[in-house]
Amino acid sequence: MNMGYKSYEEAYRLSLENPEEFWGKEAEKLHWYKKWDKVLDDSNYPFFRWFVGGKTNLCYNAVDRHALGAKRGTAAIIWESPETGQSRVYTYYHLYKEVNKFAGVLKNLGIQKGDRIVIYMPMVPEAAIAMLACVRIGAIHSIVFAGFSREALADRIDDAKPKLLLTCEAGSRGGKIIKLKNIVDDALEIARERVEHVIILNRGLDPDFPKKEGRDLDWMELLETKGMNYVEPEVLESTDPSYILYTSGTTGKPKGVLRDTGGYMVALHASMEQIYDCQTDRDVYFSTSDIGWVVGHSYIVYGPLLLGIPTILYEGTPVYPDQGVWWRTMEKYGVTCVFSAPTALRILKKFPEKWIKDRDLSSLRYFFLAGEPLDKPTYYWATKTLGTKVIDHYWQTESGWPILSNMPGIEFLPIKPGSPTKPVVGYDLLIVDERGEELPRGQKGILVSRAPLPPGNLMTIYGDDERYKKTYWEVFPGKKLYNTGDYAIEDEDGYFWVLGRADEVIKIAGHRLGTREIEEAVSSHPAVAETSCIGVEDEIKGTVVIAFVVLKESYKPSEDLKKEIAQTVRDKIGPIAKPKAVEMVKMLPKTRSGKIMRRILKGVYEGKKLGDLSTIEDGASIDEVSAAIELMKEELGKK
Ligand code: AMP
Repeated sequence: MNMGYKSYEEAYRLSLENPEEFWGKEAEKLHWYKKWDKVLDDSNYPFFRWFVGGKTNLCYNAVDRHALGAKRGTAAIIWESPETGQSRVYTYYHLYKEVNKFAGVLKNLGIQKGDRIVIYMPMVPEAAIAMLACVRIGAIHSIVFAGFSREALADRIDDAKPKLLLTCEAGSRGGKIIKLKNIVDDALEIARERVEHVIILNRGLDPDFPKKEGRDLDWMELLETKGMNYVEPEVLESTDPSYILYTSGTTGKPKGVLRDTGGYMVALHASMEQIYDCQTDRDVYFSTSDIGWVVGHSYIVYGPLLLGIPTILYEGTPVYPDQGVWWRTMEKYGVTCVFSAPTALRILKKFPEKWIKDRDLSSLRYFFLAGEPLDKPTYYWATKTLGTKVIDHYWQTESGWPILSNMPGIEFLPIKPGSPTKPVVGYDLLIVDERGEELPRGQKGILVSRAPLPPGNLMTIYGDDERYKKTYWEVFPGKKLYNTGDYAIEDEDGYFWVLGRADEVIKIAGHRLGTREIEEAVSSHPAVAETSCIGVEDEIKGTVVIAFVVLKESYKPSEDLKKEIAQTVRDKIGPIAKPKAVEMVKMLPKTRSGKIMRRILKGVYEGKKLGDLSTIEDGASIDEVSAAIELMKEELGKK
């Protein structure tokens, strides 16, 4: 497919030189109650507005358009829950009925355009139905990942000031029941804000969940008493908000990324075709993320549904009830396009390949990965083992869709393992130094984008325009550059290499090294399944690197192995980068979305207070790391 463009270069150039033409053409593919007056209004820098004057509805485009047309009987949401042993398929028409019913409930509870609704739910189809019902009536959803603690939930409630909170009595992770309603009650105790009602979807997982008379309402009962057959979609301005999604910043207070309606819809629809190379009537999409993250918003729910293809909503981990569960799911539904994270592959790569090799994965066309650097060993392993194209792409909660990627829907560019390829259409990217001066190709610097950003990007930080300006646009005063906060290099072919967050760069004896480069060298050793490296203070060199390593199952820790791994880094990068200490751990501290929390490794090493731990996946990893650090300190002569 080339979407009418001869090459990536042609599409990319048009998107920068004539964004009106480029994005206008994409917007025509969707339904508008009223056509826009202007594709882009950039008069109020840095608050860019897309399809100004246009009127539309995200739910209508994602659901009604298909349900009332040829796709009435085809699959929209395929729910697969290894956690509970359930599967359920919603056709577009069925989804349409359910969304209308729930939109009726919201209307009958007095919810109006602009009201906020917090969703704290696990991966059940009702969560997606609720999202769609919100945008149908112009209510703004704010999903809080159902693995966040009560404090994190309370913070977000206080910021979003919702009228309603939607939850389940319980979720399940790795077969363990998580009592969500108890967490909600605790959060509402701590929060300053009050909600009018809590609506609970009772899944029968926790028979004794607490109920609060008057405030708490039962989801199923409400569908019976307040559901409606049809709720007219609200005719929204393209620039009306669709949702708030909180993400962490450098301070403790989470940032509420505010998304528009029309720009987001157009960007997502275009990305489904141009980046993910999906076609209606051909593809089945499986994003292994969670609706609590931006990937879940864009590529479990809105993106695939806007294109009218089936999307898999998966409740579970990659290893429960066993290590073959993902591959079986892909085989079962003939998945064509997967979107996952490198960390998941690094976990799965530890297990015998038979879990994959015994499955028929011939339907797979692409395996997209994002969220963190894709190290070369994992890239090569995945390409070989999965027998499909593995595509690294780079983006952020703020952008809502990719910033750097191969765009096989337009033209498949040769892959350079370790690079998420080139800028996506609409992004005028460059590498700058600390003062915002453009650096020549080949030099490390900060990855920024010239204004304006393409549609779909955040409108502002909810309730805090000043923070939006300061965080993203005023880092290089007077330059009109969006700061991604990441270090990167553009090579001689125009490929970008992301080196990690700008705050994770290490200077060893004055030499600047990205933690990513060192980690890549460590993980190129055949025994290494996963690693995280940090810089720690050293009297002579200023900083030295220490490496925490998770071994593949078939390897046993030994002093010789540690030396070998350190030597591998010396061989790959040079003596400067050789870790001063290497220690094996069974697991690394990670966020629930799979990002390794280097801050914790550093904090434990430096004996600092660890601060907010609400996002940690497994607290036991801290004990693992602490024990390893004790040994390292002995080795480094710090004790
Ligand atoms: P989040 O908003 O949680 O998605 O995090 C965005 C950050 O994840 C980016 O600023 C990068 O630091 C990192 N990231 C995302 N995708 C990639 C990738 N493909 N390669 C390297 N880093 C990535």
